[in-house]
Amino acid sequence: MRKFDRSKPMPVKYWSFAGLMLTYWCNARCASCYVCSSPQAEGDMSVESGLAFWEGLQNASPHGCRVHIGGGEPFGRWEILIELLRQAKAAGLAPAEAVETNAFWATGEKIIRDRLAAMDETGIGRLAISSDPYHQQFVPIERVRLLARIGEEVLGPDRIRIRWLDWATEGFDTDSMTSEQRKRLFTAYAEKKRDRLAGRASVERAGLMPMKPAAAFADKPCYNRLLRSRHVHIDGEGIVCPGTCAGIILGRITDTDSVGRLWQNLHSHFADMGNGEKPAPPVDVLNLLACSGPAALMAVAERLGYVERADGYARQCHLCWSVRRWLFENGHFRERLGPETVYCP
Ligand code: SF4
Ligand code: SF4
Repeated sequence: MRKFDRSKPMPVKYWSFAGLMLTYWCNARCASCYVCSSPQAEGDMSVESGLAFWEGLQNASPHGCRVHIGGGEPFGRWEILIELLRQAKAAGLAPAEAVETNAFWATGEKIIRDRLAAMDETGIGRLAISSDPYHQQFVPIERVRLLARIGEEVLGPDRIRIRWLDWATEGFDTDSMTSEQRKRLFTAYAEKKRDRLAGRASVERAGLMPMKPAAAFADKPCYNRLLRSRHVHIDGEGIVCPGTCAGIILGRITDTDSVGRLWQNLHSHFADMGNGEKPAPPVDVLNLLACSGPAALMAVAERLGYVERADGYARQCHLCWSVRRWLFENGHFRERLGPETVYCP
């Protein structure tokens, strides 16, 4: 095993925050979704796998790891969710820092009280509720408000987070708007720059913003976001992606490759970066994006047949997504790009 020179900056930060993606399924199909979840999306995490990932995450870092549960919509897999939380507690793992939801299931007081009380017994930190114009196309805002109100009673106000509180307070359902009205609202909302432009968000929302040619995003390395953000997501197949860059595979947890081993391999691969040295070829999506950014990935894709969009790109991540999606659809770099559901089939 390679030894690291501790006097240099750590090339890959320990994974201190991790989201277990319990399922890609979701009742909704938000225009802002960066993992392309929908009622048709498939891919659940078993309780057994979730526990193994959770334990691996805690052991891989000397500082432990704060785990949250997301998706997709984890409450769409309630039995798996509550069993995972219970077994994690029984195994002595640190409780989930947060569980995320869009509140679709919050149809009445009884189900809310029952579920929140059951989760409270497992020691969860907080309930994170999503609310914005995109979510309210699929989830009545009254359910968000009811869940927040009962949640404050059961868990306490400090353990309820709404993203975004201003919309949940003053917003409204957007499902009955005409598509033109919704487009105008989404365009205005996009100016808040609250959402990542990846996945379906990139497909459906980028055109609502001012566009620039790819050259405007040249030489913008993504090293920090990919390797030093401390945050990863893990899905049911054990695919590990950076927390903010869905669809880029850092590694796969298998029977022989634990979370800790994946991290160690990445660390070894990028160990020379503290000296300003880039990792050696072969050409790899992660190397290119980390060291040079998405314009460099586009240059590689162009040699394979990708054509730059004439209307340009809204942001660096929109360029990245457009190129990665083309590469994925054309069968390139499949070890690094996936899973399929994230690329909006
Ligand atoms: S953004 Fe959240 S609620 Fe909307 S489709 Fe994606 S996972 Fe579901
Ligand atoms: S450009 Fe790509 S790699 Fe860089 S932060 Fe955006 S999604 Fe991640």
